Amino acid sequence: MAEKIKKSDADWKKELTPEQYHVMREKGTERAFTGEYYNAKTPGVYKCASCGAELFSSDDKFDSGTGWPSYTRPVEDGAIEEERDFTYGMVRTEVMCSKCGGHLGHLFPDGPNPTGMRYCINSASLKLDPKK
Ligand code: FE
Repeated sequence: MAEKIKKSDADWKKELTPEQYHVMREKGTERAFTGEYYNAKTPGVYKCASCGAELFSSDDKFDSGTGWPSYTRPVEDGAIEEERDFTYGMVRTEVMCSKCGGHLGHLFPDGPNPTGMRYCINSASLKLDPKK
């Protein structure tokens, strides 16, 4: 298991934008259709906005119509951690960056082939590294 990044809330607050901090450290959700990447088609790797870990590939991105960037799988096993989330009267699966623990979004079992999964991710948690 790769080494984890641990920082204080004060340090994260210094490094992240207010929106990134709200989403990634306070498990917030950006408003649908407002993020930078929900409609993005640029080929590349989506990295964690907090720590730079590679999380998703544009190859696995699909248009879910939800207003959030959506992927059928992470870039590799272990890039992402899952946890049950019982907030707001729903049972959902929260997904986090394995390396820094930053909140990314949620996982739903209603995605397209080949996995049938939909990783519904906040743009604020991502930084696209375009293919050169
Ligand atoms: Fe991270």
